[in-house]
Amino acid sequence: GYRSRAAYKLLEINQKERLLRPGMRVLDLGAAPGGWSQVAAQAIGRSGTVIAVDLLPITPLPGVTVLQGDFTDAALLAQLHTQLAGQAVDVVLSDLAPTFSGVVAVDQPRSIYLGELAAELAVTVLKPNGGLVLKAFHGTGLDDLLRTLRQQFVRVTTRKPPASRAQSKEIYLVARQLRPLPA
Ligand code: SAM
Repeated sequence: GYRSRAAYKLLEINQKERLLRPGMRVLDLGAAPGGWSQVAAQAIGRSGTVIAVDLLPITPLPGVTVLQGDFTDAALLAQLHTQLAGQAVDVVLSDLAPTFSGVVAVDQPRSIYLGELAAELAVTVLKPNGGLVLKAFHGTGLDDLLRTLRQQFVRVTTRKPPASRAQSKEIYLVARQLRPLPA
């Protein structure tokens, strides 16, 4: 079984997108309790590796290296770069979400900002042609986030997997084929 209901969202996205392949290196941001990491570890098999990052602890999973901390924190980023050892990753997954206050004017900018920061990190660690699955939320800032991704990646689509509740503003952005970084 999976540790989270969220696992089914990534399963459904990956069934359509065929993003995760055997042997890949994957970075999973906002990974606790570990459902997406489980799905990724299964899809990439024993020759692949998942690095999972979260503020919260994650019970160990086979094939998954856990880094506990804030992904925007310099100390955590240093640990991440040590772990990567100069090798870029094939796919970045981000199911990051802030702690919701219930006030849209507070929650919307916070969630979009988290997505922007995740996308910024993704482009620095991804291989050229790498891919990104990013949780985002309908509302102010989504169009700008999509526009930024379209400048950085060749193909960007949005997906609302059946496992994501219809009432939820949550949506997943799938960005593929990172363009080579400008010199
Ligand atoms: N995909 C996960 C799964 O399938 O088990 C569920 C992820 S949950 C929706 C979002 C996670 O983002 C939370 O566990 C939260 O702690 C984490 N998060 C939020 N802000 C973070 C940050 N700045 N650094 C690291 N993790 C963060």
